Amino acid sequence: MHVILLGTPGAGKGTQAKLMMVQYRVPQISTGDILRAEVKKASPLGRQVKAVLDAGELVSDELILKIVENRLHERDCRNGFILDGFPRTIPQAQGLDGILKRMGEMDLKAIEIAVEDEAIVKRLTARRVCAECGQMTSVLINPKDRCENCGGKLFQRDDDKEETIRNRLRVYHENTAPLIGYYQQQGVYHMVNGLQPVDAVFAEIQRVINS
Ligand code: AMP
Repeated sequence: MHVILLGTPGAGKGTQAKLMMVQYRVPQISTGDILRAEVKKASPLGRQVKAVLDAGELVSDELILKIVENRLHERDCRNGFILDGFPRTIPQAQGLDGILKRMGEMDLKAIEIAVEDEAIVKRLTARRVCAECGQMTSVLINPKDRCENCGGKLFQRDDDKEETIRNRLRVYHENTAPLIGYYQQQGVYHMVNGLQPVDAVFAEIQRVINS
């Protein structure tokens, strides 16, 4: 199973990828998570990309393609993977086509989780992350500043501030939305309604995967 999850930041790609990972036993590959981990470690790569992430801009296609190609060659990707937050540009999609061809993989599905921009702004400004276990929550669900899972302190990602969210949405519409046409042309594009409850979105995704 080789799935690309498309959708604006905050559409629910990470949440759905985690459910899919359990159900289908394939890894979630989130380029955003990989980059944030590098920033947290303050590695040379992390120091190189921090300002770009904080501004909600995109890191270079070349760098991202190198990271993804290395990751897809790890053993846990043998039976498939869920790509979350990649590809984000047409050159990245073309690069991925090349990587998959070299790996001999052809069965790809691109699933867009569609949510309108204003709903995204509401969702993301309310989003909080646990500093200890990384669990995501929302001030609309948990108005306290402690994680319900482990008691760790909740914080707001720098790129979840409203101004940055609007910039990330602009970047998405300019660079990533054209991927819809790209995958439609390949006959592998599917859309699910991301405004539904998490379980209902997951049920739709399962129908697409099993189709
Ligand atoms: P995400 O968690 O997927 O929203 O990613 C957070 C940030 O990481 C983005 O706003 C970009 O700065 C960077 N990023 C993640 N994935 C990519 C990608 N495929 N191409 C370029 N930049 C990316």
